[in-house]
Amino acid sequence: MDRIKIQELKVFAHHGVFDFEKEKGQNFFVNATLFLPLQKAGRTDALEETVNYAAVCDDIVNEMQGKNYDLIEAAAEAVCVCLLNKYPRLQQVDLEIRKPEAPLDADFSSVSVYISRKRHRTYIAFGANLGDPLAQISAAKEAINADGSCKILRSSEIIKTTPYGGVEQDDFYNGVWETETYLEPEELLDFLHRVEQTQGRVRDVVWGPRTLDLDILLFDRLVYESERLFIPHRDMKNRDFVLEPLASLTPDLCHPVTGQTIIEMLGEVKERHICK
Ligand code: ATP
Ligand code: CA
Ligand code: CA
Repeated sequence: MDRIKIQELKVFAHHGVFDFEKEKGQNFFVNATLFLPLQKAGRTDALEETVNYAAVCDDIVNEMQGKNYDLIEAAAEAVCVCLLNKYPRLQQVDLEIRKPEAPLDADFSSVSVYISRKRHRTYIAFGANLGDPLAQISAAKEAINADGSCKILRSSEIIKTTPYGGVEQDDFYNGVWETETYLEPEELLDFLHRVEQTQGRVRDVVWGPRTLDLDILLFDRLVYESERLFIPHRDMKNRDFVLEPLASLTPDLCHPVTGQTIIEMLGEVKERHICK
């Protein structure tokens, strides 16, 4: 993809774990690569078809100087999130922050962190049947949108459904959110767990009652498996209360493993229910 590069932007700032680093400050150097399509700007010669790199430099300096971090990792994260939020044309930002004056008892030219952040499209299923389900769902939505790295783009209708899995309990309120996030899968799962906890989630009975449950259904076209995370969600093909709201948002999206569209998957699960 096309890109704009900003190299060795010098910023005087106050990041570091030592008090004297926060007090005195030092020079940092920023390298940024902005990924965006540039053909239209090239053909029209119009500034509004690209991203103004002078403005981006100002944003980097403001972000680097606006807050004092212990870690340049945190400063880099904040700069990437700021740029991706401010410039919708950017699809990815690669960022390096160099710290040549780091207080290190060694002969070195510089230490740096280099991170890469990009937009991901995800679908998240929500469910609740304890406490005040609608209030918890709405509070969760606010908490997600309040985090700079995750935004709900569209919500399905909230449907009332009978519980799944054989545990005797109240009806559920279920639905799906389409989100954009800069978080990678494991970080997104941690973030959703924190949101569940803010709404009083306790994990005891499997498939039991809960104040809020947030599951990652799909994450771009990713197929991913770790000890604690499966993407796509393993059981989505069997759940009409997930497929129905998902199909209302994106009926023609293909499951990355089976290639089936969501509407086809919903048709199959409904047919199985009828046959039972
Ligand atoms: P189910 O995942 O069958 O709907 P559940 O939502 O009731 O069950 P939880 O107790 O909420 O189960 O989650 C158990 C664990 O499932 C989580 O701690 C998490 O590590 C893991 N998990 C695996 N894949 C996913 C996913 N795609 N989204 C959310 N959690 C997942
Ligand atoms: Ca679940
Ligand atoms: Ca869950």
